[in-house]
Amino acid sequence: MAEYKYDTVVVGGGVAGLTATAYLARAGQKVLLIEKNMECGGLVNTFSRDGFYFDAGVRALLDAGIIFTMLKDLNIGLEVVKSPVSLGIENEVLNIKDINSLEEYRDLLKKFYPGSDSDIDEVIRIIRKIIKHMDVLYGIENPVFKDLKRDPGFIFKKILPWFPKFIFTVRKINRMNTPVEEYLKTIVKDPSLRDMISQHFFRNTPSFFALSYFSLYLDYFYPRGGVGKLAEALKDKLLESGGELKTETKITGIFPAEHFVKDGQNNRYKYKNLIWAADLKTLYKTVETGTLLPEIRKKIEETKATMFGNRGGDSVFTLFLEVDERLESFRKIAHGHFFYTPSRQGLGETHREELNYLLTNFSKVRKEEILTWMDKFTSLNTYEISIPGLKDPGLVPPGKTGVIISLLAEYDLFKQIQEAGWLDEFITELEDRILKVISDSVYPMLKDKIIAHFSFTPLTIENRTGSSEGGITGWAFRESMPVINKIQIADRSVLTPIPSVYQAGQWVYSPAGVPMSILTGKLAADKVLKNK
Ligand SMILES: Cc1cc2nc3c(=O)[nH]c(=O)nc-3n(C[C@H](O)[C@H](O)[C@H](O)COP(=O)(O)OP(=O)(O)OC[C@H]3O[C@@H](n4cnc5c(N)ncnc54)[C@H](O)[C@@H]3O)c2cc1C
Repeated sequence: MAEYKYDTVVVGGGVAGLTATAYLARAGQKVLLIEKNMECGGLVNTFSRDGFYFDAGVRALLDAGIIFTMLKDLNIGLEVVKSPVSLGIENEVLNIKDINSLEEYRDLLKKFYPGSDSDIDEVIRIIRKIIKHMDVLYGIENPVFKDLKRDPGFIFKKILPWFPKFIFTVRKINRMNTPVEEYLKTIVKDPSLRDMISQHFFRNTPSFFALSYFSLYLDYFYPRGGVGKLAEALKDKLLESGGELKTETKITGIFPAEHFVKDGQNNRYKYKNLIWAADLKTLYKTVETGTLLPEIRKKIEETKATMFGNRGGDSVFTLFLEVDERLESFRKIAHGHFFYTPSRQGLGETHREELNYLLTNFSKVRKEEILTWMDKFTSLNTYEISIPGLKDPGLVPPGKTGVIISLLAEYDLFKQIQEAGWLDEFITELEDRILKVISDSVYPMLKDKIIAHFSFTPLTIENRTGSSEGGITGWAFRESMPVINKIQIADRSVLTPIPSVYQAGQWVYSPAGVPMSILTGKLAADKVLKNK
């Protein structure tokens, strides 16, 4: 057993923990980042297999006024390219170019749902309005990453004129918190059309967030070498600034009264401040409160109960393909980031009510019933398809293509099937169906050209990053959230009731994703520095 001493210990080497550590190291702190895996990055990760590079988590990045501002502030050069998006239904594909593509999206929907012209016009009108709000929200470099003392011009020329618009926009946005499924019911009568617009979003996604996606499609970018390059660049920066990194080390105990954490080998890491940048249920499971004052213990127990009363949001099933076919064949069909729905029918109740029935009656349902459900689930769903080589041809062996196909998936289904002992069979059945659906529709050249394939389930995500219920962007959307969900008070999201412990990442703010994880990493580092 060894004992180490630090100003700050950061647990979790995803983008949140990397950001916090990079900033604390830059400020001259003696700081240690502890990551349980061999590699940092968490859900921002690129790996290679047989010469093909695949993104295991997020497929492309959105700036949101945060990522580029942070990179500039930390003086990190990251080579990026645009990551254009395509939307497809059955045999029609729309390659999104700019904001005018919204008109083409309207025409595409009208073609498939000719009886819903006025409903479609209304949806497009609302999306257009939201795009204007997004321009305000993300329209300036996020001030959290600016040194306002050194750059007073930024306050007078940028923040002051922007701030009233920001407050107005936030009020508007907060009024659009209704789950998108419910919201669309008030505008669109045809349930299939509603599915087409919303079925690739997480259950109960706030309508503002869901309907803002068209504007986000225009902003996706991709680091050369894969999204994991962002995590690598942050890691290099924190090391260059004197921060320390310990990988393959899992924190198994937090002792706030004594100011140390311990790992699986019983090594102790003493801290003045701790930033927890990983799953929050794990934080509250790991913290030892025995010697704290009773009123602090009570607060911690209350927060723990709120966390455990909630669950991680939707997870994802991902199929990775190594294909013996040139990139050009795929380029002719769609961009390298593609949301594709093979049938205009829409999932209807397949995903939610029918799945719910299967899960609540799991011990009684036959395997065949689950496989029949799976037939519908795979043929009516919306897929996110990513082809890294179309964004950076260096990511595939010459003449070949790597394809990543994913769909939202329910953690509990995989968990119950694993417990029933037929997970491998279930995965094979799911992979076969996805391959059949995609090669019978949009990519016929996949037939007979697949060199190798493998997949990740929600259980893989849980095992790899420790995410509760395999959640890929933090908490499930519910009426009452266990964390802050208002942008104007985002700085409070990093506070915990545990003395000298701050939190960061996708579990501390909702809705989350890469930009909010980075932002909360910086906010947590700021609190630590202020605390000093
Ligand atoms: C398929 C997919 C698609 C996505 N699409 C988007 C998108 O389009 N836009 C978007 O913004 N976001 C998207 N996301 C979400 C985004 O990637 C995450 O929200 C973000 O990367 C979370 O970063 P984080 O640092 O908070 O957490 P994580 O990346 O989960 O990092 C937590 C780290 O903590 C480590 N850890 C956990 N427990 C311990 C412990 N006890 N000791 C030591 N280390 C520990 C883990 O190994 C992990 O490395 C997507 C994610 C996935 C998987």
